[in-house]
Amino acid sequence: MNNTMRKLLALLLVFCLTAVYVPMAVQAAGDGDVQVTQEEPETEPAEPTLDEIKAAAKLELKNYKNAGDYRTAQQTELANAIRDGEAAIDAAEDADAVAAAVAAAKAVIDTIKTRAELTAIDNQAAANEVIALINAIGTVDDSWDCEKRIRAAREAYDNLNGAQKALVTNKDKLEQAEAAFSALQDKPCKYCGEIHDSSLGGGFKAILHSVLYFLLHLIGKR
Ligand SMILES: [Zn+2]
Repeated sequence: MNNTMRKLLALLLVFCLTAVYVPMAVQAAGDGDVQVTQEEPETEPAEPTLDEIKAAAKLELKNYKNAGDYRTAQQTELANAIRDGEAAIDAAEDADAVAAAVAAAKAVIDTIKTRAELTAIDNQAAANEVIALINAIGTVDDSWDCEKRIRAAREAYDNLNGAQKALVTNKDKLEQAEAAFSALQDKPCKYCGEIHDSSLGGGFKAILHSVLYFLLHLIGKR
């Protein structure tokens, strides 16, 4: 065989291989495309497996509440409820049982108080204490005991924060008691008939007039 013949045979071989394999490769690629387009409508109505349902249920439970909305103790309660719910989901034998496990876990979670709910409860409790102190003032008289009761209620009220103060329903009663007690202190002087103020001068005048009144009383002039 000479060189020319060899070259011709080699060319013929290349031609034959190309003629056979290229159409096969094109068809194979085409078949692949056809297979994908044929399978697509089949996957759409496919029912999720129980494992997929369980995974979705666990995710739903995990995202049901935001742990940041809870105080530390309640965050632990929340984590425990989610953990128990996940165990119930794992134990479920069908989709209905999974749904029931999710519903039961959510019902438990709903009973856990958020930070805002607990703050509202605390505020109401603090306000209730002040309401009771104001109610305990009772009838106002010119006694040291009465003054102590009014002061205790006033101090407790002033120590509340704004939200708590807003919950004190009988603040007007405290203010009325303070006004009534103050009015009892402003008795006119028995000697001169005026009401002496609480300044140093006023106090000195009041003591002086008390002494004068006492002396006049002794000699029977008043
Ligand atoms: Zn006087």
